[in-house]
Amino acid sequence: MKFAKRLNFLGIENAFEVLAEVTKLKAQGRDIISFAIGEPDFDTPANIKEACIKAIQANHTHYGPSAGLPALRETIAAYIAKTRGISVSADEVVVTPGGKPIIYYIIHALVDPGDEVLYPNPGFPIYESVTNFVGGKPVPVPLLEAKEFSLDTDYLRSLITPKTKLIILNSPQNPTGGMLTPADLKAIAAMAVEHDLWVLSDEIYSRVLYSGEFHSISALPGMKERTIILDGFSKTYAMTGWRLGYGVMPSALATWVSRLITNNESCTNTFIQYAAIEALTGPQDATAAMVREFKARRDLIVDGLNSIKGFSCKLPNGAFYVFPNVTQACRNLGLPDAKALQQLLLHEGNVAVLPRTSFGVKNIGETEEYVRFSYATSRENIIEGLKRIKAVVEK
Ligand code: PLP
Repeated sequence: MKFAKRLNFLGIENAFEVLAEVTKLKAQGRDIISFAIGEPDFDTPANIKEACIKAIQANHTHYGPSAGLPALRETIAAYIAKTRGISVSADEVVVTPGGKPIIYYIIHALVDPGDEVLYPNPGFPIYESVTNFVGGKPVPVPLLEAKEFSLDTDYLRSLITPKTKLIILNSPQNPTGGMLTPADLKAIAAMAVEHDLWVLSDEIYSRVLYSGEFHSISALPGMKERTIILDGFSKTYAMTGWRLGYGVMPSALATWVSRLITNNESCTNTFIQYAAIEALTGPQDATAAMVREFKARRDLIVDGLNSIKGFSCKLPNGAFYVFPNVTQACRNLGLPDAKALQQLLLHEGNVAVLPRTSFGVKNIGETEEYVRFSYATSRENIIEGLKRIKAVVEK
Protein backbone atom coordinates (compact mmCIF):
# COMPACT_ATOMS: atom_id res chain seq x y z
CA MET A 1 0.00 0.00 0.00
CA LYS A 2 1.28 3.44 -0.88
CA PHE A 3 0.29 6.43 1.20
CA ALA A 4 0.96 10.11 0.60
CA LYS A 5 4.36 11.26 1.85
CA ARG A 6 2.88 14.05 3.92
CA LEU A 7 1.54 11.51 6.40
CA ASN A 8 5.10 10.97 7.61
CA PHE A 9 5.05 14.49 9.00
CA LEU A 10 1.94 14.03 11.09
CA GLY A 11 2.57 13.61 14.83
CA ILE A 12 0.40 11.97 17.42
CA GLU A 13 -0.99 13.03 20.73
CA ASN A 14 1.17 10.73 22.77
CA ALA A 15 -1.21 10.97 25.73
CA PHE A 16 -3.63 8.73 23.86
CA GLU A 17 -1.03 5.91 23.88
CA VAL A 18 -0.85 6.00 27.68
CA LEU A 19 -4.64 6.18 27.82
CA ALA A 20 -4.84 3.08 25.61
CA GLU A 21 -2.42 1.27 27.94
CA VAL A 22 -4.49 2.32 30.96
CA THR A 23 -7.71 1.12 29.32
CA LYS A 24 -6.08 -2.22 28.53
CA LEU A 25 -4.86 -2.68 32.11
CA LYS A 26 -8.28 -1.74 33.47
CA ALA A 27 -9.91 -4.29 31.15
CA GLN A 28 -7.58 -6.90 32.69
CA GLY A 29 -9.14 -6.04 36.05
CA ARG A 30 -6.37 -3.76 37.36
CA ASP A 31 -7.51 -0.95 39.64
CA ILE A 32 -5.71 2.04 38.12
CA ILE A 33 -5.99 5.60 39.41
CA SER A 34 -5.58 7.84 36.41
CA PHE A 35 -4.14 11.34 36.47
CA ALA A 36 -3.63 11.08 32.72
CA ILE A 37 -6.86 12.48 31.29
CA GLY A 38 -7.10 16.15 30.41
CA GLU A 39 -10.83 16.65 30.82
CA PRO A 40 -13.14 17.77 33.62
CA ASP A 41 -14.67 14.81 35.47
CA PHE A 42 -17.90 16.79 36.00
CA ASP A 43 -21.14 16.37 34.10
CA THR A 44 -22.23 19.00 31.59
CA PRO A 45 -24.58 21.39 33.47
CA ALA A 46 -28.28 20.46 33.19
CA ASN A 47 -29.39 23.75 31.58
CA ILE A 48 -26.99 23.14 28.67
CA LYS A 49 -28.16 19.57 28.15
CA GLU A 50 -31.79 20.71 28.23
CA ALA A 51 -31.14 23.41 25.63
CA CYS A 52 -29.66 20.76 23.35
CA ILE A 53 -32.61 18.39 23.79
CA LYS A 54 -35.02 21.26 23.07
CA ALA A 55 -33.09 22.14 19.92
CA ILE A 56 -33.35 18.57 18.67
CA GLN A 57 -37.07 18.51 19.42
CA ALA A 58 -37.46 21.79 17.54
CA ASN A 59 -35.81 20.02 14.58
CA HIS A 60 -32.63 22.07 14.48
CA THR A 61 -31.12 19.02 12.87
CA HIS A 62 -30.10 20.36 9.47
CA TYR A 63 -26.92 21.78 7.99
CA GLY A 64 -25.92 25.24 9.16
CA PRO A 65 -23.49 27.86 7.88
CA SER A 66 -19.81 26.76 7.85
CA ALA A 67 -18.71 29.54 10.22
CA GLY A 68 -21.44 28.73 12.74
CA LEU A 69 -25.01 29.86 13.46
CA PRO A 70 -25.27 33.67 13.32
CA ALA A 71 -26.90 33.73 16.78
CA LEU A 72 -24.01 31.77 18.30
CA ARG A 73 -21.38 33.88 16.52
CA GLU A 74 -23.09 36.99 17.96
CA THR A 75 -23.15 35.44 21.43
CA ILE A 76 -19.48 34.46 21.28
CA ALA A 77 -18.53 37.92 19.97
CA ALA A 78 -20.29 39.53 22.95
CA TYR A 79 -18.69 37.05 25.39
CA ILE A 80 -15.17 37.60 24.07
CA ALA A 81 -15.67 41.37 23.97
CA LYS A 82 -16.65 41.29 27.64
CA THR A 83 -14.05 38.82 28.89
CA ARG A 84 -11.08 40.15 26.88
CA GLY A 85 -11.96 43.82 26.83
CA ILE A 86 -11.86 44.13 23.03
CA SER A 87 -14.48 44.90 20.42
CA VAL A 88 -15.52 41.81 18.44
CA SER A 89 -18.10 41.38 15.71
CA ALA A 90 -19.83 38.16 14.68
CA ASP A 91 -17.95 37.99 11.37
CA GLU A 92 -14.72 37.60 13.34
CA VAL A 93 -15.95 34.39 14.99
CA VAL A 94 -15.71 30.88 13.55
CA VAL A 95 -17.35 27.93 15.32
CA THR A 96 -15.69 24.51 15.10
CA PRO A 97 -16.15 20.98 16.49
CA GLY A 98 -13.84 21.53 19.50
CA GLY A 99 -11.11 24.11 19.95
CA LYS A 100 -8.55 21.79 18.39
CA PRO A 101 -9.63 22.28 14.74
CA ILE A 102 -8.74 25.98 15.11
CA ILE A 103 -5.09 24.94 15.49
CA TYR A 104 -5.28 22.85 12.33
CA TYR A 105 -7.11 25.47 10.30
CA ILE A 106 -5.07 28.45 11.43
CA ILE A 107 -1.76 26.76 10.69
CA HIS A 108 -3.08 25.69 7.28
CA ALA A 109 -4.30 29.21 6.60
CA LEU A 110 -1.13 31.03 7.70
CA VAL A 111 1.94 28.84 7.39
CA ASP A 112 3.68 28.20 4.06
CA PRO A 113 6.37 25.55 3.65
CA GLY A 114 9.57 26.83 5.27
CA ASP A 115 7.78 29.32 7.53
CA GLU A 116 8.76 29.15 11.18
CA VAL A 117 6.29 28.74 14.03
CA LEU A 118 7.32 29.44 17.62
CA TYR A 119 5.46 27.28 20.12
CA PRO A 120 5.68 26.48 23.84
CA ASN A 121 7.63 23.39 24.86
CA PRO A 122 6.56 21.43 26.87
CA GLY A 123 3.20 22.07 25.24
CA PHE A 124 0.11 20.72 23.56
CA PRO A 125 1.65 18.39 20.93
CA ILE A 126 -0.72 19.35 18.12
CA TYR A 127 1.03 22.71 17.50
CA GLU A 128 4.24 20.98 16.46
CA SER A 129 2.51 18.16 14.59
CA VAL A 130 0.36 20.37 12.35
CA THR A 131 3.26 22.76 11.68
CA ASN A 132 5.32 19.81 10.43
CA PHE A 133 2.35 18.56 8.43
CA VAL A 134 2.15 21.74 6.35
CA GLY A 135 5.93 21.78 5.81
CA GLY A 136 6.56 24.57 8.31
CA LYS A 137 9.39 24.57 10.81
CA PRO A 138 8.35 24.26 14.45
CA VAL A 139 10.67 26.22 16.73
CA PRO A 140 10.26 25.29 20.41
CA VAL A 141 10.26 28.01 23.05
CA PRO A 142 11.27 26.48 26.41
CA LEU A 143 8.98 27.01 29.37
CA LEU A 144 11.00 27.44 32.51
CA GLU A 145 10.25 25.98 35.91
CA ALA A 146 12.27 28.79 37.48
CA LYS A 147 9.83 31.27 35.88
CA GLU A 148 6.75 29.36 37.11
CA PHE A 149 6.66 27.78 33.64
CA SER A 150 6.43 31.04 31.76
CA LEU A 151 8.97 31.72 29.01
CA ASP A 152 12.02 33.92 28.75
CA THR A 153 10.86 36.72 26.46
CA ASP A 154 14.46 37.74 25.58
CA TYR A 155 15.13 34.20 24.44
CA LEU A 156 11.89 34.21 22.47
CA ARG A 157 13.03 37.38 20.74
CA SER A 158 16.34 35.72 19.82
CA LEU A 159 14.43 32.95 18.00
CA ILE A 160 12.64 35.33 15.63
CA THR A 161 14.00 35.23 12.07
CA PRO A 162 12.76 36.68 8.77
CA LYS A 163 10.96 33.34 8.28
CA THR A 164 8.99 33.52 11.52
CA LYS A 165 5.28 33.72 10.74
CA LEU A 166 3.40 32.73 13.85
CA ILE A 167 3.83 32.61 17.62
CA ILE A 168 1.64 30.16 19.51
CA LEU A 169 0.86 30.96 23.15
CA ASN A 170 -1.10 28.94 25.68
CA SER A 171 -2.00 30.44 29.04
CA PRO A 172 -3.08 28.94 31.43
CA GLN A 173 -0.98 26.17 30.05
CA ASN A 174 -1.19 22.47 29.35
CA PRO A 175 0.83 20.59 30.73
CA THR A 176 2.40 22.88 33.35
CA GLY A 177 -0.51 25.00 34.61
CA GLY A 178 1.82 27.98 34.07
CA MET A 179 0.67 31.43 33.02
CA LEU A 180 2.11 34.26 30.99
CA THR A 181 2.30 37.39 33.12
CA PRO A 182 0.97 40.73 31.86
CA ALA A 183 4.61 41.82 31.44
CA ASP A 184 5.36 38.73 29.31
CA LEU A 185 2.32 39.42 27.16
CA LYS A 186 3.39 43.02 26.69
CA ALA A 187 6.89 41.98 25.62
CA ILE A 188 5.57 39.36 23.21
CA ALA A 189 3.04 41.80 21.75
CA ALA A 190 5.80 44.32 21.08
CA MET A 191 7.78 41.66 19.17
CA ALA A 192 4.74 40.56 17.19
CA VAL A 193 4.00 44.13 16.12
CA GLU A 194 7.66 44.93 15.35
CA HIS A 195 8.15 41.80 13.21
CA ASP A 196 4.63 41.69 11.80
CA LEU A 197 3.81 38.25 13.20
CA TRP A 198 0.57 36.41 13.79
CA VAL A 199 -0.21 35.15 17.30
CA LEU A 200 -2.40 32.12 18.00
CA SER A 201 -3.45 32.54 21.61
CA ASP A 202 -4.80 29.26 22.95
CA GLU A 203 -7.08 30.42 25.74
CA ILE A 204 -9.00 27.17 26.22
CA TYR A 205 -8.26 27.29 30.00
CA SER A 206 -9.08 30.99 30.42
CA ARG A 207 -11.90 30.26 32.88
CA VAL A 208 -9.96 27.70 34.92
CA LEU A 209 -8.14 30.35 36.88
CA TYR A 210 -7.57 30.41 40.68
CA SER A 211 -6.71 34.00 41.40
CA GLY A 212 -6.45 37.30 39.60
CA GLU A 213 -7.91 38.15 36.22
CA PHE A 214 -7.39 36.56 32.86
CA HIS A 215 -5.31 38.63 30.43
CA SER A 216 -5.46 38.09 26.68
CA ILE A 217 -2.70 39.33 24.41
CA SER A 218 -5.44 40.35 21.96
CA ALA A 219 -6.26 43.37 24.17
CA LEU A 220 -2.81 44.95 23.80
CA PRO A 221 -2.19 47.76 21.29
CA GLY A 222 -1.80 46.54 17.71
CA MET A 223 -2.67 42.96 18.63
CA LYS A 224 -6.31 42.43 17.79
CA GLU A 225 -5.62 42.49 14.06
CA ARG A 226 -2.89 39.86 14.35
CA THR A 227 -4.28 37.57 17.05
CA ILE A 228 -6.40 34.44 16.77
CA ILE A 229 -8.06 33.58 20.07
CA LEU A 230 -8.79 29.89 20.50
CA ASP A 231 -11.41 29.07 23.12
CA GLY A 232 -14.29 26.67 23.53
CA PHE A 233 -16.71 24.79 25.70
CA SER A 234 -14.78 21.59 26.48
CA LYS A 235 -13.03 22.69 29.65
CA THR A 236 -15.21 25.60 30.85
CA TYR A 237 -18.51 23.72 30.72
CA ALA A 238 -17.29 20.11 30.97
CA MET A 239 -18.29 19.49 27.35
CA THR A 240 -15.28 17.62 25.91
CA GLY A 241 -17.38 14.97 24.19
CA TRP A 242 -19.75 17.47 22.60
CA ARG A 243 -16.95 18.79 20.39
CA LEU A 244 -17.49 22.51 20.39
CA GLY A 245 -15.03 25.37 20.21
CA TYR A 246 -14.26 28.52 18.28
CA GLY A 247 -11.70 30.96 17.02
CA VAL A 248 -11.85 34.76 17.05
CA MET A 249 -9.79 36.36 14.31
CA PRO A 250 -9.77 39.15 11.71
CA SER A 251 -12.77 38.71 9.42
CA ALA A 252 -10.65 38.18 6.26
CA LEU A 253 -8.96 35.22 7.95
CA ALA A 254 -12.31 33.98 9.28
CA THR A 255 -13.55 33.81 5.68
CA TRP A 256 -10.65 31.53 4.73
CA VAL A 257 -11.09 29.35 7.79
CA SER A 258 -14.79 29.02 6.90
CA ARG A 259 -13.77 27.89 3.45
CA LEU A 260 -11.52 25.23 4.97
CA ILE A 261 -14.52 24.12 7.07
CA THR A 262 -16.70 23.94 3.94
CA ASN A 263 -14.08 21.64 2.44
CA ASN A 264 -13.92 19.49 5.52
CA GLU A 265 -16.84 19.04 7.92
CA SER A 266 -19.24 21.52 6.20
CA CYS A 267 -20.39 22.91 9.56
CA THR A 268 -20.47 22.21 13.26
CA ASN A 269 -23.36 20.13 14.58
CA THR A 270 -26.38 22.45 14.55
CA PHE A 271 -28.37 21.57 17.69
CA ILE A 272 -25.21 21.62 19.80
CA GLN A 273 -24.76 25.26 18.86
CA TYR A 274 -28.07 26.08 20.53
CA ALA A 275 -26.75 24.48 23.71
CA ALA A 276 -23.65 26.65 23.35
CA ILE A 277 -25.77 29.81 23.40
CA GLU A 278 -27.31 28.61 26.66
CA ALA A 279 -23.84 27.79 28.04
CA LEU A 280 -22.61 31.35 27.49
CA THR A 281 -25.78 33.23 28.41
CA GLY A 282 -27.26 30.98 31.13
CA PRO A 283 -26.20 30.69 34.78
CA GLN A 284 -22.46 30.31 35.32
CA ASP A 285 -22.61 28.81 38.80
CA ALA A 286 -21.73 25.25 37.66
CA THR A 287 -18.46 26.54 36.18
CA ALA A 288 -17.72 28.54 39.31
CA ALA A 289 -18.36 25.46 41.49
CA MET A 290 -16.15 23.32 39.25
CA VAL A 291 -13.28 25.79 39.45
CA ARG A 292 -13.66 26.01 43.25
CA GLU A 293 -13.37 22.24 43.46
CA PHE A 294 -10.35 22.23 41.12
CA LYS A 295 -8.68 24.76 43.39
CA ALA A 296 -9.16 22.57 46.47
CA ARG A 297 -7.78 19.60 44.54
CA ARG A 298 -4.84 21.63 43.31
CA ASP A 299 -3.91 22.48 46.89
CA LEU A 300 -4.32 18.87 47.93
CA ILE A 301 -2.20 17.45 45.12
CA VAL A 302 0.57 20.06 45.33
CA ASP A 303 0.93 19.54 49.09
CA GLY A 304 0.86 15.78 48.63
CA LEU A 305 3.42 15.75 45.81
CA ASN A 306 5.78 17.99 47.74
CA SER A 307 5.71 15.49 50.60
CA ILE A 308 6.97 12.67 48.34
CA LYS A 309 10.73 12.13 48.39
CA GLY A 310 12.35 13.39 45.20
CA PHE A 311 9.25 15.28 43.95
CA SER A 312 9.09 19.05 43.85
CA CYS A 313 5.93 20.76 42.63
CA LYS A 314 5.05 24.39 41.86
CA LEU A 315 1.61 25.79 42.70
CA PRO A 316 0.05 26.69 39.35
CA ASN A 317 -2.58 29.40 39.02
CA GLY A 318 -4.65 27.88 36.24
CA ALA A 319 -5.79 24.84 34.21
CA PHE A 320 -6.09 21.50 36.05
CA TYR A 321 -2.56 20.20 35.69
CA VAL A 322 0.55 20.07 37.83
CA PHE A 323 3.98 19.33 36.45
CA PRO A 324 6.23 18.24 39.29
CA ASN A 325 9.97 18.01 38.87
CA VAL A 326 10.83 14.34 39.47
CA THR A 327 14.55 14.46 38.67
CA GLN A 328 15.59 13.52 42.19
CA ALA A 329 13.02 10.71 42.40
CA CYS A 330 14.37 9.26 39.12
CA ARG A 331 17.92 9.43 40.50
CA ASN A 332 16.95 7.87 43.83
CA LEU A 333 15.31 4.99 41.99
CA GLY A 334 18.11 4.61 39.42
CA LEU A 335 15.74 5.43 36.56
CA PRO A 336 17.00 7.08 33.37
CA ASP A 337 14.07 9.44 32.84
CA ALA A 338 10.46 10.42 33.55
CA LYS A 339 9.19 7.89 31.01
CA ALA A 340 10.74 5.10 33.10
CA LEU A 341 9.17 6.59 36.24
CA GLN A 342 5.79 6.79 34.48
CA GLN A 343 6.05 3.10 33.57
CA LEU A 344 7.07 2.16 37.13
CA LEU A 345 4.17 4.13 38.63
CA LEU A 346 1.74 2.49 36.20
CA HIS A 347 2.92 -1.09 36.52
CA GLU A 348 3.99 -1.19 40.17
CA GLY A 349 1.83 1.54 41.66
CA ASN A 350 -1.31 1.30 39.50
CA VAL A 351 -1.17 5.06 38.97
CA ALA A 352 -1.26 6.68 35.52
CA VAL A 353 0.54 9.94 34.78
CA LEU A 354 2.09 11.32 31.59
CA PRO A 355 5.82 11.77 31.07
CA ARG A 356 7.28 15.12 29.98
CA THR A 357 7.96 13.70 26.50
CA SER A 358 4.22 13.40 25.84
CA PHE A 359 4.45 17.18 25.42
CA GLY A 360 7.34 17.44 22.96
CA VAL A 361 10.99 16.41 22.86
CA LYS A 362 13.21 17.93 25.52
CA ASN A 363 14.68 21.35 24.80
CA ILE A 364 18.40 21.66 24.14
CA GLY A 365 20.16 21.63 27.49
CA GLU A 366 17.06 20.50 29.39
CA THR A 367 18.29 18.13 32.08
CA GLU A 368 15.37 18.00 34.50
CA GLU A 369 12.65 15.33 34.48
CA TYR A 370 8.92 16.00 34.84
CA VAL A 371 5.59 14.19 34.76
CA ARG A 372 2.13 15.66 34.30
CA PHE A 373 -0.77 15.04 36.66
CA SER A 374 -4.28 16.05 35.69
CA TYR A 375 -6.23 16.59 38.91
CA ALA A 376 -9.56 16.40 37.13
CA THR A 377 -10.34 13.45 39.37
CA SER A 378 -11.92 13.13 42.82
CA ARG A 379 -10.17 14.10 46.07
CA GLU A 380 -10.44 10.46 47.18
CA ASN A 381 -8.57 9.38 44.04
CA ILE A 382 -5.95 12.06 44.61
CA ILE A 383 -5.36 10.92 48.21
CA GLU A 384 -5.21 7.24 47.24
CA GLY A 385 -3.06 7.92 44.15
CA LEU A 386 -0.52 9.91 46.17
CA LYS A 387 -0.40 7.12 48.77
CA ARG A 388 0.39 4.60 46.06
CA ILE A 389 3.09 6.78 44.54
CA LYS A 390 4.72 7.33 47.92
CA ALA A 391 4.75 3.56 48.49
CA VAL A 392 6.54 2.94 45.17
CA VAL A 393 8.93 5.88 45.30
CA GLU A 394 9.94 5.66 48.97
CA LYS A 395 10.08 1.91 49.41
N1 PLP B 1 -5.62 23.47 23.51
C1 PLP B 1 -5.12 22.91 24.62
C2 PLP B 1 -3.93 23.52 25.27
C3 PLP B 1 -5.69 21.75 25.15
O1 PLP B 1 -5.17 21.21 26.26
C4 PLP B 1 -6.81 21.18 24.49
C5 PLP B 1 -7.40 19.94 24.99
O2 PLP B 1 -6.87 19.19 25.77
C6 PLP B 1 -7.30 21.81 23.35
C7 PLP B 1 -6.68 22.95 22.88
C8 PLP B 1 -8.44 21.24 22.56
O3 PLP B 1 -9.65 21.31 23.19
P1 PLP B 1 -10.98 20.74 22.52
O4 PLP B 1 -11.35 19.51 23.30
O5 PLP B 1 -11.99 21.82 22.67
O6 PLP B 1 -10.71 20.44 21.11
